[in-house]
Amino acid sequence: MPSAAAQDSGRIILFMRRLEATALFVASLTLPVVAGCGTGAKPPQESTDSKPAAQAATHDIDVAGMDRGVLPGDDFFRFANGGWLKATEIPPDRSSYGVWSILIEQAQQRTRDLLAGAAAGKAAAGSDERKLGDYYASYLDDQAIDARGAAPLAEPLAAIAAIADRRALSAWLGQTIRADVDPLNNTNFQTDHIFGVWISQDLDDPARYAPYLLQGGLGMPDRDYYLDASPRMDKIRTAYRDYIVTMLKLAGVAGPDAKAVRVLALERRIAAAHWTRTASADVLKANNHWKREEFERRAPGIDWAAFFDAAKLQAAPAFIVWQPSAVTGISALAGAEPLDSWRDYLTFHAVDHHAGVLPRAFAEARFAFYGTTLSGTPQMPDRWKRAVDSTNAALPEAVGKVYVQRYFPPEAKAQVQELVTKLVAAFDRRIDNLAWMAPKTKASAKAKLASLKVGIGYPDAWRDYSALEIVRGDAFGNASRAERFDYEANLAKLGRPMDRAEWSIAPQTVNALNLPAQNALNFPAAILQPPFFDPAAGPAVTYGAIGTIIGHEISHSFDDQGSQFDASGRLVNWWTPDDVAHFKEASARLVAQYNDYRPFPDLHVNGQLTLSENIADVAGLSAAYDAYRIVSGSQAMPVAQGFTGDQRFFISFGQTWRNKAREEMARQWTVTDGHALDEYRADTVRNIEAWYSAFDAKPGQHLYLAPPERVRVW
Ligand SMILES: [Zn+2]
Repeated sequence: MPSAAAQDSGRIILFMRRLEATALFVASLTLPVVAGCGTGAKPPQESTDSKPAAQAATHDIDVAGMDRGVLPGDDFFRFANGGWLKATEIPPDRSSYGVWSILIEQAQQRTRDLLAGAAAGKAAAGSDERKLGDYYASYLDDQAIDARGAAPLAEPLAAIAAIADRRALSAWLGQTIRADVDPLNNTNFQTDHIFGVWISQDLDDPARYAPYLLQGGLGMPDRDYYLDASPRMDKIRTAYRDYIVTMLKLAGVAGPDAKAVRVLALERRIAAAHWTRTASADVLKANNHWKREEFERRAPGIDWAAFFDAAKLQAAPAFIVWQPSAVTGISALAGAEPLDSWRDYLTFHAVDHHAGVLPRAFAEARFAFYGTTLSGTPQMPDRWKRAVDSTNAALPEAVGKVYVQRYFPPEAKAQVQELVTKLVAAFDRRIDNLAWMAPKTKASAKAKLASLKVGIGYPDAWRDYSALEIVRGDAFGNASRAERFDYEANLAKLGRPMDRAEWSIAPQTVNALNLPAQNALNFPAAILQPPFFDPAAGPAVTYGAIGTIIGHEISHSFDDQGSQFDASGRLVNWWTPDDVAHFKEASARLVAQYNDYRPFPDLHVNGQLTLSENIADVAGLSAAYDAYRIVSGSQAMPVAQGFTGDQRFFISFGQTWRNKAREEMARQWTVTDGHALDEYRADTVRNIEAWYSAFDAKPGQHLYLAPPERVRVW
């Protein structure tokens, strides 16, 4: 699990992995949140009472939230959601709001109840329940945090000031790295530490774990924020420099203005060494095995012996270096840039990283930059929400264990299992029916599908937190210890046999994941709720909602990236050259289709960056539609609410993408997120034949594609 600090990452199934303002700014722990596939993690809002619900509490589609004045063939997203879009304001403490937000809010409220109960109880010292209560209560106690002031920073800042040579610098960089990235499952590429570590299945040897090293060290979301010359990005850079000044001042550091200039200049050089987000998403470029002894030659600058020793990675014989030229470039900077610049940089990041567990002026300053400037959110979420997020990041499975006991009944697990079985069968049939694919490739695809390991609700085994010390009243120490505990728990996997049942997302997360190397899916309990999964809904609505999410996650095993892994999780080509050529041709058309979407006049969707998700959306929707038709049998589904069964299936799908985002957030997602913005995900329908007949979409309408232009990959 990543860190409590916050972002949301993850290869969500559908939903995804996006950096959320809330999370970003909770910042202090380490846990990244989910990026995955889905829609992801949007931050919760204060209360839904006085606001229009994102989805009416019926067991069917939300007709009142539609806009019947829009032709579905012109703008399917607004046809399905226009009424809701007009009636809804984004709450002030959110960067976006929609269907996902409602569920996130619900999971957050439920978690709050659990944690408040644990905090008030008298569970035995050392028990998980006691740790949950103590962690939450300590984070919540802002008076005690304010009273301690900046005192918790004294020790790390003194240690940074004492860095006197490159060896000490390298040791500090090694000592502070964490297991806070995840390039395949949660697709979380961002860390404010100099590098990110990921411990997962070896791409060439699926039976064992390997340590991965990824580029890091930036405070802003992507290299573009440093290097893009547009006035908009220039303004953000100025705001970031001002933010660095503010944090240094709050920490009592002398000469903050000059130091901020140096910090930004160093980060700009780090950014110049970084790979783009699109390049980082290409697993074939990432499978670089460096033996331990090669680091000195390939990446001079860092004292690697000191670095790995401090990182407790001295015994690892080899690493997978995801972005080799970035590691080389960053290491060179560690050898060449003045030590003063590095000390300034590390001082700022030590303060910034812990802002959530420092006095409120720190947290407010951090929110002003990450929440407002970068994401457009005017108002900081309440402290309890941040406390819940931080506890989730620090003790994800301890929270998850009590969460599912209370909120995820065994019947729900059985029902979802049944749906998964139907979706897998529909996907299998689609493979059979592919005219272009060679029999040998089909057989491999079917074998991979058959060996998919599907986790529903929660993992079979829970993480053991007995070695994590949580002290009531020490919010700062708790967060730091939790990050270190998470790192060491990950390191402990090295040398053990690979566990394909391991989860990469907490059960209380509203998202879903495909884990390509494990050939596994995770469907957390918190997404298996209405409107996505409603046991009382009929098949059109069920297959249009949770069915398309399940189909999306299954399809990730066969997207441009997932298809490069075989059934065992080995990164190996199991395709014939003709099959590869066909797949690439269809993919290229999908890239072009999404490149044409322009959320803003100066910014278009990145079709290549979002390709995996778009393939999964098209294939998942297709498989869900097939499964829906199979369960319906030969009889046409009855008309209900004025719509045919097929129409309700597609509207149900379109309404799962109901969301509105602030401009800053939408721009950030467009640059950094592997998922297209929600409205374009709803418009996936234009590739599906059945949608044309369901809505009589015609040439001349905006979404209309002539039959040869409709993309079918699977
Ligand atoms: Zn996805």
